[in-house]
Amino acid sequence: TRTVVTLDGPAGAGKSTTAREVARRLGYRYLDSGALYRALTFALLEEGVDEAVWGDLDREALDALGVTVAPVEGTLELGHRGRVLGDELRTPQVTARVSAVARLPAVRRWLLRHQQALGRHGRLVTDGRDMGTVVFPEAGTKVFLQADLDERARRRLLDQGVRAPGARERQQAAEKLAARDHADMSRETSPLRPADDAVVLDTTALDFEEQVEAVVALARR
Ligand code: C5P
Repeated sequence: TRTVVTLDGPAGAGKSTTAREVARRLGYRYLDSGALYRALTFALLEEGVDEAVWGDLDREALDALGVTVAPVEGTLELGHRGRVLGDELRTPQVTARVSAVARLPAVRRWLLRHQQALGRHGRLVTDGRDMGTVVFPEAGTKVFLQADLDERARRRLLDQGVRAPGARERQQAAEKLAARDHADMSRETSPLRPADDAVVLDTTALDFEEQVEAVVALARR
């Protein structure tokens, strides 16, 4: 499908801010696949499902967690039992557990169906880890965003409002990103890697506008 643009890459490479703006400029819908994994993680923690049994969750159990996805203006709204999920998806608790949830084959199968169904409803810009390799292998534009670890840590802290982090703070942020990258690259099901036909874009030295323009240009090619 020419009408799907995928942005994959490690944590903190700027995928979601870029994808959201690219979607706006192209007039496509934005699908944040990481938010889907985060919503499931939030629901598991919120419902108090013991981590020891996460590996036993089947399709019915996942259906019963109360996570909802609703199309709204330009994007998708995630909810849990009537509560709209926003900042809840980015808490340190959710971020620390999300890779453990994303590793579960039943979770990936469950989300694969949902993501592909969303892709049938029209033009989409989507970001994640396996969007170009597994979820939308036929996508017309595939980009793999890369950036140096230290730069990704700097941007992540900036997102959190930390403008002038100390060396130690920067080091800690980098370690968290590196641990998540390692988990995402080494899992058996749909590990993080560039699709064979993806364009690898290193954004270390690019500013936001350059990054967005580069992806828009690839999509319009
Ligand atoms: O992109 P974001 O940081 O929100 O993703 C959270 C986590 O969800 C990632 O660390 C990864 O474990 C998982 N994920 C995934 N496949 C995707 C998107 C996210 O495994 N397509």
